[in-house]
Amino acid sequence: MSLKNTIEIDIVQSTSSKIDTVDFENLAFGNVFTDHMLLCDFKENTWQKPIIKPYEPFMIDPSAKVFHYGQAIFEGMKAYKDEQDEVWLFRPEENFARFNNSAKRMAMPEVPKSVFIDGLKTILEIEKAWVKKGLGKTLYIRPFMIAIGSGVIAQPSTQYRFMIILSPARSYYSGEVKVIIAEHYSRAANGGIGAAKAAGNYSAQFYPTKLANDKGFQQIIWTDDATHTKLEEAGTMNVFFRINDTLLTAPTSERILDGVTRKSLIEIAKREGIEVDVRSVLVDELVNAAKDGSLKEIFGAGTAAVVNPIVGFSYQDVYYELPKIDNSFAKNLKEKLTNIQYKLADDSFGWTVKI
Ligand SMILES: *Cc1c(COP(=O)(O)O)cnc(C)c1O
Repeated sequence: MSLKNTIEIDIVQSTSSKIDTVDFENLAFGNVFTDHMLLCDFKENTWQKPIIKPYEPFMIDPSAKVFHYGQAIFEGMKAYKDEQDEVWLFRPEENFARFNNSAKRMAMPEVPKSVFIDGLKTILEIEKAWVKKGLGKTLYIRPFMIAIGSGVIAQPSTQYRFMIILSPARSYYSGEVKVIIAEHYSRAANGGIGAAKAAGNYSAQFYPTKLANDKGFQQIIWTDDATHTKLEEAGTMNVFFRINDTLLTAPTSERILDGVTRKSLIEIAKREGIEVDVRSVLVDELVNAAKDGSLKEIFGAGTAAVVNPIVGFSYQDVYYELPKIDNSFAKNLKEKLTNIQYKLADDSFGWTVKI
């Protein structure tokens, strides 16, 4: 597949590049940004002409709705460079569709494909040098939209800004991840905004996550808000469980975000002949499986870390440690997925898109 460029974009090239000042071998995630950003405003009911210009701060009115009512959404994607120096995206149409679903839920205007997809293609062509070759090296892509209309009255804005910023990243070892199963706090509720990548979902997680950190745990496994008996997500990732040789993950819902990594891993696992059971997974079931030794693995799945193995979990103040195993599904599936993303393996699913 290949992307076609159909819109006009104003381009203001930066006069110098900071690329030579960046140490690509030692990057903290999401701290360094490329030379350019894409910006497109919505006003008078119309998307304006997008512009790509040097990365820089900008001014908005202190009464802008994003500051007061949190009308803000985002996406997270990556660009990969193959051995022939070609740049690839992974299932970008999924992120585009999800972005507009998030927009709808937050009463924001949907972004046209000519702005999101063609804009992304254009800025990536300009920033190609920032996508480095080698497994684990990526250019993290952060499209987002904020309400920039002014006025401290609680109603949707009439003006919005869509932007794309890019941050070089490399895979890192996050250390051992231990999790607490949520018994009180919730990430999402039925009828809420949990299925949207809305900014407020993440700030609402910070406090309970900090409490978990203080107890020596890195993340929380979120449970359903009504009964806290069903396992739903791990931090800001979807979550998988391996009991004996079956891979389990909850179906997506109003409370569970429809992750691209999640659905790709499900397809790859099935292709590999792994039994995959998409159904509600109960906390009790997990505790019993940990006790009788049938629980082999837990891992998070998301674009940023791809697959994040979890070494143990705490529930009702009892800590359950997972066994160390050789033939890990997490490791195997991560390798299969990244090989497709970096064009090291045949992409029989047709997921990769050339820039
Ligand atoms: C973004 C996100 C995910 C993972 O989605 P990917 O498309 O795989 O990156 C999972 N859960 C939540 C809450 C998220 O925000």
